[in-house]
Amino acid sequence: MNVIMRAAVLHGAKNIKIESAARPEVKSGMVMLRVRRAGVCGSDLHYFEHGYCAAFVPTRPFILGHEFTAEVAELGEGVANLKVGARVTVNPARSCGFCGYCKAGRPNLCRQIIMLGSASTKPPTDGAFAEYVTVRADQCHTLPPALDDSLGAMMEPFAVALHAVKRAGSIAGKRALVTGGGPIGLMVAMTARTFGAFPVTLSDLVPSRRETAQKLGVDITLDPSVKNLPEQVQEIAGDGFDVVFEASGAPPALRQAFDLVRPGGTIVQIGTLGTEDIPLPANLLMNREINFMGSMRYGDVFDDAIRLVSASRINLRPLITGVLPFADAGEALRLAADKSQALKVQIQITKE
Ligand SMILES: [Zn+2]
Ligand SMILES: [Zn+2]
Repeated sequence: MNVIMRAAVLHGAKNIKIESAARPEVKSGMVMLRVRRAGVCGSDLHYFEHGYCAAFVPTRPFILGHEFTAEVAELGEGVANLKVGARVTVNPARSCGFCGYCKAGRPNLCRQIIMLGSASTKPPTDGAFAEYVTVRADQCHTLPPALDDSLGAMMEPFAVALHAVKRAGSIAGKRALVTGGGPIGLMVAMTARTFGAFPVTLSDLVPSRRETAQKLGVDITLDPSVKNLPEQVQEIAGDGFDVVFEASGAPPALRQAFDLVRPGGTIVQIGTLGTEDIPLPANLLMNREINFMGSMRYGDVFDDAIRLVSASRINLRPLITGVLPFADAGEALRLAADKSQALKVQIQITKE
């Protein structure tokens, strides 16, 4: 039996086509989801613009998308904790559940992760820019009525931000800097504020992004290219920021973070820094006892993410700058690529 669905298939750089594809099979322990709303992520943009994302080169055309709201359409054998029709968001990174990392509560470090809409596996794993997608039942998180489809599709990128802030430990009362005012940087700044950091400063080269940050309640914004940056930082944070969240993925921003963090402070690396290794000021790291740590996707933070946003502790709605119909999926990616205009662009895949 070959049941057909509509899917936005990436054939190479700048080449997305809406076409018919075979519906995925629902194996035991899995559920078939009917995708309603999906967001465009920076990684989708990398695939769209270059045909690959960092070291991940697709071995065949595939379907992008991993940030979405869906409804449960069909249950695989043995699935008891979900009902057909339930509205869910999804943790798109399926870890094995059995290895040491999974058992220690660090599933994002699992070596066997299967990520939706990604060429990290060979062949690539199809994602959510399609009418249907299958996931393991435990990847689903039921959405409360307070979270509509658009906010449901924000839970995955918000989980990235939430995980990064949690990585820094307690930040209450601390002076925080976020470098990079894209959707993740903005959500990190908003979360840091909700968690009590003060003041929260955000730096970005693009003026419109600094303006957005200010509208979203960030205390201070900085242009990292100005000559008197050291004086400005001195005024805001004295010896330096207690915590720097590097969310731009730009090597110069990371280098600058080592100058802007105070001795004994923490740098959390969230942005992906291209494919090449980059030099680091290792002596500064040593003689100032700087804590430099990575933050990869998210651990088990989806339920916290849903709780914080449905209680309006963090308002993610202003980050959604466009919603396009499924037929215009390619246009949605082009729109999202314009970083001076777009923050989060979403695609309406199916309706109720
Ligand atoms: Zn994403
Ligand atoms: Zn594992």
